[in-house]
Amino acid sequence: MEQTVYLDHNATAPISAPARDAAFEALALTGNMSSVHRFGRRVRRTVEDARESVAELVGAKAGNVIFTSGGTEANNQAMARCGRARVLASAVEHPSVLKALGGIETVPVTADGVIDLGALEDMLGESGTPALVCLMLANNETGVVQPVGKAVEAARRFGALVHCDAVQAAGKIPLDMAALGVDTLSLSAHKIGGPAGVGALIIKDGAPLDSLLKGGGQEHGLRAGTENVSGIAGFGAAASAAKDGLESFAGLARLRDGLEARVLDAGRGSRILGVNAERLPNTSCFTLPGIKGEAQVMALDLAGIAVSAGSACSSGKVGASHVLTAMGVGPGEASTVIRVSLGETNGQDDMDLFFKAWSALGVA
Ligand code: PLP
Repeated sequence: MEQTVYLDHNATAPISAPARDAAFEALALTGNMSSVHRFGRRVRRTVEDARESVAELVGAKAGNVIFTSGGTEANNQAMARCGRARVLASAVEHPSVLKALGGIETVPVTADGVIDLGALEDMLGESGTPALVCLMLANNETGVVQPVGKAVEAARRFGALVHCDAVQAAGKIPLDMAALGVDTLSLSAHKIGGPAGVGALIIKDGAPLDSLLKGGGQEHGLRAGTENVSGIAGFGAAASAAKDGLESFAGLARLRDGLEARVLDAGRGSRILGVNAERLPNTSCFTLPGIKGEAQVMALDLAGIAVSAGSACSSGKVGASHVLTAMGVGPGEASTVIRVSLGETNGQDDMDLFFKAWSALGVA
C-alpha cells in the first residue's frame, strides 16, 4: 500500500498538533482542580482556559459549559435530566439520542433528510405534556444541516425545550448557540481534532438541568467525577483551532462538489443522498448500485483509502442505516451507500486517488 488517504473525518478527526501538545502538557500536571492549593489552582486554570475556548466555539458563556465524557453522555444528560416526560426526536438523530430513553417519539424527515417541521408542530400539538424536542444540527451520515432555529420557534409555541446535538456541526460550520435559541447543546472533542472520550454539554441560562452522574460537586454540581484534565485541555486547544479554521473548512465543499460531479458523471447510476438540502461542506453520502457498502469499504481500504459504509457509519456494525431508512431509501439501495467525509488535510490529490480507486470497484 503506497499512499493512504483518510476520508472518515465524521467518524473521528485526526488529533490536531495544538490539541496533542495541550493534552500532553496537561498530563504532566499534578493536582486535583478541586484542591485549593497552588497545584490544584494550576490545574483549574488549564481547565477554565479550555472551558473558555469551547464556549467561544459555540458563542456561549464559559460558565455554561459542562465537560462530559463525550457527545453520548452529553446527549443522555440533556435528555434524561431536563425534567420533561415527553421527548420528540427527529428520526435521523444519532443513536446516543434515539436510544437514550424509552418512549421517544420520532419526527419524520423528508427524502433529503430534513426534519418535517409541519409534522413536528402537529406532534407537539397532540398532547399538553411539556416536551423536549431533540434536533441535531448536522447529520453524521449525510451531512444534512437541520433548520434548528425554525424548530425552536415551533417548540416555543408549545412550551417545549430544545436540545441540539451539534457534535458533527461544530468546527465544520459557524455555530452560535444564542442565535439558534436552543436550551442545551452537545459537543464531542474527537470530531473537531481533540482527544476521544471528552465532550461538553452547553446550557442556556436558566434552562432546567440536573446531573446524570451523582457524587462530588464538580462542574457546578452538574457532572460528578474528577475532570479528565488532559482531555479537556486537548479539547480546548482543538476548539480554538477549529474556530480559526472554519473558513478553510468551508473550502472543502469545492473538493466535495467536484468529487460528486465525477461520481455522477461516471455512469454507474450513483445517487447522492441529501443533495438538495443544505449540507456540511465535507460530507458526501452516495450509492454505487450493485456493490455493497461494506465491500466498497474493504476494497477501498486495500487501495489505502478510508471511508465508512452508509449502513455502518456509527460503529462498524452492519445493518440498514436508520438515517437512510427514515429518508425513504430502500434496504437494497441503502446497502450500497458509502460516506466520504473530508478534513482539512485533504486536497485534490486525495479526491483523485479516491476517484481512481472508486472507479475500479466492481470492474473486472
Ligand atoms: N452525536 C453525533 C451526531 C455523532 O456523530 C456522535 C459520534 O459519532 C455522537 C453524538 C457521539 O459522540 P461521542 O463519540 O463523543 O460519544
